[in-house]
Amino acid sequence: MSKYLSDASLSEIIRQLEYKSKWQNKHFYQIDTYYPSSQICSHCNNKNRELKDLNKRKWTCSKCNNENDRDINAAINIMWEGLINNTKLFT
Ligand SMILES: [Zn+2]
Repeated sequence: MSKYLSDASLSEIIRQLEYKSKWQNKHFYQIDTYYPSSQICSHCNNKNRELKDLNKRKWTCSKCNNENDRDINAAINIMWEGLINNTKLFT
């Protein structure tokens, strides 16, 4: 994805998301850049360290046998990472 988005345009997208979230009284939380969202099974939290190839769009978890769609699995993990680490939502 980095080859499609320059650092400058990605920074602007993040700035706009943060600004518009505040404007709409919504929560904005940015997770760590290196969080392995597509490698962690959203069903059981097992980490698939061998999943490096971006062309591999689906994978089966070796621990729970859940079939993971790369994008949907990553989206679920990102959502939880944001919710878990944003303690302001729970105070
Ligand atoms: Zn699993």
